[in-house]
Amino acid sequence: MSNPSKIAVFPGSFDPVTIGHVSIVERSLPLFDRIVVAMGENIGKRYMFTAEQRLAWLQETFRGQPKVEVMAFKGLTADLCRELGAGFIIRGLRNSTDHGVERSIALMNHALRGVETIFLPALSEHAHISSTIVRELLANKADVSAFVPAAVRP
Ligand code: ADP
Repeated sequence: MSNPSKIAVFPGSFDPVTIGHVSIVERSLPLFDRIVVAMGENIGKRYMFTAEQRLAWLQETFRGQPKVEVMAFKGLTADLCRELGAGFIIRGLRNSTDHGVERSIALMNHALRGVETIFLPALSEHAHISSTIVRELLANKADVSAFVPAAVRP
């Protein structure tokens, strides 16, 4: 059995998964034995794509990565970490707004369950990419193929 402290959860909406998300997972691979990409299904949050669709895209995208597992979850990320025996949460930071928000959440997760959050800065070529912008482009029938992994491309 691998050391539980080397399991990390990468939580997100992935609505849809972008090449920014993929980059964060790939850059995290050397740090952990196992990475669980955890797609949130939050009550009260409106998604463009169904949970089934978002999950299918994630599964297809990470199919070739033996250390990466994809799952859907409801509830608190800190509770999921406890269930999985994960000691770490991975988050990507694109800008100072992300940093401000994520710092508070990270400290709360530490207070709740002693889980440490590992932040990776978005690569400069990905800092402008977000699921929100991809949804906006899709809604206006623009080409998003440069911003999403192959699984999501039409
Ligand atoms: P959430 O609703 O939890 O923010 P997202 O799917 O938008 O879910 O993002 C999941 C994680 O991926 C977050 O930590 C976010 O900062 C990070 N992320 C999103 N887009 C990028 C990107 N272009 N580069 C690096 N990290 C990113």
